[in-house]
Amino acid sequence: MKAAPSGLLDAIAGARRIVAFTGAGMSTESGVPDFRTPGSPWMANKPIPFEAFVSNAAARREAWRRKFTMDDLYRGAEPSDGHRALVTLHRAGRLAGLITQNIDGLHQAAGLPPDEVIEIHGNGTYAACLECRHRHELGPIRAHFEAHGHAPACTACGGLVKSATISFGQRMPAEAMARAVALAKACDLFLVAGSSLVVYPAAELPVLARQSGARLVIINREPTPLDPLADHVWQGEIGPIFRQIAAGGGEYREN
Ligand code: NAD
Repeated sequence: MKAAPSGLLDAIAGARRIVAFTGAGMSTESGVPDFRTPGSPWMANKPIPFEAFVSNAAARREAWRRKFTMDDLYRGAEPSDGHRALVTLHRAGRLAGLITQNIDGLHQAAGLPPDEVIEIHGNGTYAACLECRHRHELGPIRAHFEAHGHAPACTACGGLVKSATISFGQRMPAEAMARAVALAKACDLFLVAGSSLVVYPAAELPVLARQSGARLVIINREPTPLDPLADHVWQGEIGPIFRQIAAGGGEYREN
């Protein structure tokens, strides 16, 4: 195993208000492929923009077909050591917040309280009405889709129901973004893990944290455009370094 630089581990051990920012790379060790690594099944089809989903019944059918196909592929995904290490930091009282671009719900499955997981790209484990935001579970939608070839309308208001993720062209969730911005401005260490940092506006958050005085740590298998801005960069796999971060219960250590 490649030993992590002690400076990076010391910076994390000596931080009191860590904000973690995770991307699809956090879940590859759980068996969910990321978006941009070549061969990704997410890239097999051209994404369906939000506008097409809203305006076109055929696009909606195709979106649901793809959604259920992907769900079948990753149904058994379990949290990885990376997800668990962040729970360790939370229990040690040092995780001020968790912002994720992921839609897989694995941070919550690992044990982070759901209201402390800020999902800026939504959540794919349930659906919501685009009109009244009423939550819908996927099981009944799928049963209806398989029986009738289309998803049901919202039972509360008759509106269009969509997976609760943010599609290309869809407005970012305002409250989640506002919470993410506030956290980025108030942390003492911003910890990026498993993100290519090319998706905006999400990738503005590490910049904001750095400008607000936080240390910036980036852990990713490959270089990111924000590496030159970071105090510490670790180019490697999530598992080994997060096991080191969580060693000793993730307690604060003066250094
Ligand atoms: P991305 O695919 O653009 O980048 C992921 C990065 O993680 C890549 O640079 C890759 O090299 C790195 N990586 C992959 N596995 C790693 C590992 N084990 N250790 C260290 N690094 C690893 O993902 P992104 O930055 O999150 O942006 C893509 C968008 O796609 C996001 O908006 C996200 O919502 C969505 N997405 C989510 C999931 C999920 O929920 N699990 C999966 C695919 C895509």
